[in-house]
Amino acid sequence: MRTPQVVVAMDWGGTWTRTAVINRQGEILWQAREPNPQNGSKEEYLTNAEKLLANAIDQAIGPVAGIGAAVAGPVEPTTGTFFQPPNLMVLDGVSFKALWEKAFNVPVWVGNDANLAALGEHYYGAGKESADTGRPVKTLFYVTVSTGVGGGVVDNGSVFLGANGLTGEIGHTLVDTSSSALTCQCGATGCLEAMASGTGIERIARQKVASGDFSESVLAELDAGSLDSEAVFDAAGKNDPLAMSIVAGAVSALAIGLTNVVHLFNPDMIVLGGGVTQGLVKLDLLPRIDQGIRERTMSELHKEFQLTSARLGDSVGLAGAAALVWDQLAAEG
Ligand SMILES: [Zn+2]
Repeated sequence: MRTPQVVVAMDWGGTWTRTAVINRQGEILWQAREPNPQNGSKEEYLTNAEKLLANAIDQAIGPVAGIGAAVAGPVEPTTGTFFQPPNLMVLDGVSFKALWEKAFNVPVWVGNDANLAALGEHYYGAGKESADTGRPVKTLFYVTVSTGVGGGVVDNGSVFLGANGLTGEIGHTLVDTSSSALTCQCGATGCLEAMASGTGIERIARQKVASGDFSESVLAELDAGSLDSEAVFDAAGKNDPLAMSIVAGAVSALAIGLTNVVHLFNPDMIVLGGGVTQGLVKLDLLPRIDQGIRERTMSELHKEFQLTSARLGDSVGLAGAAALVWDQLAAEG
């Protein structure tokens, strides 16, 4: 029998579940997107996911080499078990690997979405682009700056997982030790996520507006429903001083968090993705983050990194899930 040339990939996010058929080159041959069940039971979620996977397997012409899934939450890497996912608590303790290998009779690998986004950008996105121009990437750090802030590390082509698959949590590294440091969703204060995520930026903007000290800002004129991080970036683009100071705070927090990453992992590539990154790119602020890191690095060798924005957009989780399957199959020989 001919070796299967495609995999089925799934990206199970907070709101949407995407599925795709992807070849070895990372090309998406077919894809679909479905909204998640609202407040579903464990059974509803699992039945829905199996239905979506079965449909994707049907769309693949011929056999599939395996299934890869990127999920929003911590995953134990060997058993593919979901561990206290904040958005899908009813699925705590479920092993997708065991369930789906039994249901579909193909090998299954599951990973955290930020870890797999790192793998996707390494093999099919910014990392590939660098390799194609003669600079293959050894260690890539991916950070998603979105509703939350997460990250993943790829070293020598594989995700660096840590003991429990929980590496790369740059969002919960400490960037503000002052007494006015903001409380993070995780319960700690001064986390990067509290200052630079979409929800963090929105919360800071709302607090500043509510204080009444910034009545001249266009943000103060918005109704409560439309004051979000996008509005802050729009206003910053029009030189609104309050919006610019909030964005500057996020930029400086990201530079501090990524300086820690540079010293810990010595990456030769840092890739920023997520909705907030798009706002930063529009205002041409990535060079400011880059400079903020370089000003703090302890050695010239630490400065040998490229900082760039993600190439794969919304497909990054699917690409990473596919890359995980090819990577694991190759490792098993
Ligand atoms: Zn935190």
